[in-house]
This record gives sequence, C-alpha cells and structure tokens, in this order.
Amino acid sequence: MTKITPPVKKNETIEVEFVDITHEGAGVGKVDGFPLFVPNGLPGETAQVKVIKVKKNFGFGRLLEITSQSADRVEPPCNVYHKCGGCQLQHMSYEMQLDMKRNQVQSSLKKIGHIEGIPIHPTIGMEDPWRYRNKVQIPVGEKNGELITGFYRKQTHEIIDDMERCIITDEVNDRMVDAVREIANRLGIQAYDEEHHRGTLRHIMVRSGQVTKQTMIVLITRTEKVPQLETLISELTETYPHIKSVVQNINTDRTNVILGKKTKVLWGEEYIYDEIGDVKFAISAKSFYQVNPTQTKKLYDKALEYADLSGNETVIDAYCGIGTISLFLAQKAKKVYGVEIVPEAISDAKENAKLNHIDNVEFYVGQAEKVMPWWQAQGLKPDVIVVDPPRKGCDEVLLHAMLEMKPKRIVYVSCNPSTLARDLRVLEDGGYHTKEVQPVDMFPQTTHVECVALIDRV
Ligand code: SAH
Repeated sequence: MTKITPPVKKNETIEVEFVDITHEGAGVGKVDGFPLFVPNGLPGETAQVKVIKVKKNFGFGRLLEITSQSADRVEPPCNVYHKCGGCQLQHMSYEMQLDMKRNQVQSSLKKIGHIEGIPIHPTIGMEDPWRYRNKVQIPVGEKNGELITGFYRKQTHEIIDDMERCIITDEVNDRMVDAVREIANRLGIQAYDEEHHRGTLRHIMVRSGQVTKQTMIVLITRTEKVPQLETLISELTETYPHIKSVVQNINTDRTNVILGKKTKVLWGEEYIYDEIGDVKFAISAKSFYQVNPTQTKKLYDKALEYADLSGNETVIDAYCGIGTISLFLAQKAKKVYGVEIVPEAISDAKENAKLNHIDNVEFYVGQAEKVMPWWQAQGLKPDVIVVDPPRKGCDEVLLHAMLEMKPKRIVYVSCNPSTLARDLRVLEDGGYHTKEVQPVDMFPQTTHVECVALIDRV
C-alpha cells in the first residue's frame, strides 16, 4: 500500500474553509478532504490558518485571519473570553449554539447508535442566555500585595487578574466574591500560595437561590484558624442581609480538588433554600444542585411529560442525586424509588422529601447497576424508569436489568450524546424504540449538551 502523506505541513500558512464544528467548538476545515481542527473558526467561514500539528488522519491549526466571516459570528461580550476557557461558544450567535447542540445529538445518534428518522426537536434555549449560574467557585491569589480573584488562564494555574466579572454567573454571586475579597484584603487575610503551600484563603464559593434570593458564602481555607474571621463575617452579614449562611471548608491538602473534608457553619444556617417549580430544596455547602434552575425546570417538565404519569405508576429514578427528578415524578406517580451512589446526596434527598411533605418516595444508597437487579429479584415491577447518569452513561448491567424489568417507557436524561447513543442501541436491540429526543440548553456559551429521550417498549 502506498503511504498517504497529509496534504498540509507543520508551520505552513494556508487558506481554509470551515465546513463543520467539533464537539469542543473548534472549526473543522477540510484540505483535500484532510480535516484540520481550528479553534475559533465557524462553519461557513474562510480563514488564513497556520498549521501547528499534523497527525496521520487530522491536524490542528491556529486561526490567523478571517477572510470571509460568518453572519453568526458575534463579538464575545466577556473581556477575558479568550484567556479563560470556561466558555467556548461566546463567538457564535445563540441561535447557532442551539443548532449546533441539536446537530450534535442528531449526529451521535446516527453515527454511534444507528438511530435515524426520529424527531430530534430544536434545542430549548434560554430567553436570556447570560447570568444563569447560581454557583461560583473562584480561586484567590495575590498580586502586588493585594488579594485578587479570577479563574485560571486556560491550562494553567495562573489567575486571570483582569477578570472583573463572570457574565454567565448570577450577578449577586459576582458581587459577593468582590465583597469577600475586598473585606478580606482590608483585614490582611492572606491568599493561599499554591506553590509553597502557605497562606490561607484558597477559594471563595458563593451559591444563591434563584427564587429565594438567599445566599451562602463558603470560604475554603488551608488552615482552620483564620485571623480576623469574626470581623470578616460580621462586616459581610451586616452589609448584605441576603446572606443566610457562612460556611468554612478546610482543605489542608496540596491538591487541585477544591473542597476539603471538613466543613463547619460559621454563621447562620447550614442550608439555603431554593425552589424549582413546586418543589423546595435545601442546599448545603457540599450538596450537588443543578447550576441553571431555569433550564432544569424545562428539562424536568419534559422528562415528566415523557414519563406520562396518571397517578397509578411505580417509577424508578436511577442516578437520582439529591432526588430532584424523583420529587418531581412523585407528585404524579403512585410510588417512586430512587437510587444514587453518594450517601450524602441520599440524605439530602430524604430531607428534601420531608421538606415537601412527599411520602411516596424511597431512596437507596448504592450502585444503580447492583440495586436494580436486586429490586427486580424482590419483584419490583416499574411502569416507567427514568435514568440520569453521569457522562460515561449507564452501566451495561443496568441496561440489561432495565430490559428484564420491561417497563412501558424509559426516560433517559443525558449530558453526553455519545454515551446516550451507545446505550440507546442496547435498548433498541432489546426490544425498545426511541420515539423522540429533546435537547435542552442547560449551559449556554459552553459546549455542554443535555437532552432527554423517550423510549417505548415495542
Ligand atoms: N438526577 C440528579 C443527578 C444526576 S447526576 C439531578 O438531576 O439532580 C448523576 C448522578 O449519578 C450523580 O449524583 C452521581 O453521584 C450518580 N452516580 C454515578 N455513578 C453511579 C452509579 N453507578 N450508581 C448510582 N448513582 C451513580
């Protein structure tokens, strides 16, 4: 066989037309059919590109100059967009973002799952796709003897020191980060120095209830003792009455992991509260809670619509977390069983059930792939199963347990179209049919794609 040489060489500058976009948001150019991935390029554009890496079947390039611009290109409104890397899609119109996400679901289902010809609805977006995040965790550093806060520059641990705000974060959280930093700075509290593992304040985390407007401040420190802590707390809480909880988390380790093991309430409540639809949630410093409640409501409404409950059904919610979906389902079902691997999440789930006076749910700690076969052996016969697994998708054992339980419907909530497609193939081969899929934009300006699929027994 003749050796095929790529049509491009490292370091050369070429003109490229972008025909597609990758899951990471890079433009895909084709040079005589050879794909070149170029960050910041948009489909429909032509640009001067410097080739920076050439592999056997593809290469990477750097965009030098756009020679023909897409109508969907927009000026990124964030002043640190190109340094930060937290967002990847600010340079494209929101319509294009929504289309891109839908196309991604469609192409994964086709390529990986061999599923075609079913309705994949247009992505449900946000009316205002900014300032949606209810939680921020931001590193603290020092520059010229002053405290600074900012996200890390892409692929480094260097704080972006001209980051004034994060425009996908709820404004109140941005303001609280500023307030904590200013007061701590004035009181002489030191930033954590990662290199020498000294100093005190590592991260500031702020979470606010979108409906309740309650705020929790979490100070993540290297040491338990922090000089002037009392003064910091009283200044903060006296100035900002919406702060309901101040918590310290102590992380003594040399690590990238943000939160340490020990958490203590310094002031106020252990929890703040928030609501999604009719359901209330108590959220502690370590609880998992969806970061975009507006879109979570739309996603869960769709999941509930797909579950099509009349009040007589037994439902399983696998990978239930703090019981968010379970509690939504319970309002319309006879009985809901939730399973989740993290014990703290299950205790939150139980508390949340009590808080809402919902008593037709039972929560279990364990691996869903082990608990489901056990439930089946106990004779549990679910009418509907809802799954919401992490990025790696469902365990194969769990998929087979579902097939054996023969529910009428499966509702699959997915944050990764590739593993969704893989798992749908297993379900299709086992006698189920994917009826429709609804993408929901949970994370505007980023490449994350979330969707919910309805799967019926044939
Ligand atoms: N449905 C929830 C959380 C979904 S995130 C919500 O919407 O809030 C996925 C969850 O799966 C996480 O809480 C994670 O801890 C859990 N998980 C991961 N692997 C698991 C497994 N093997 N068995 C059960 N739960 C698992």
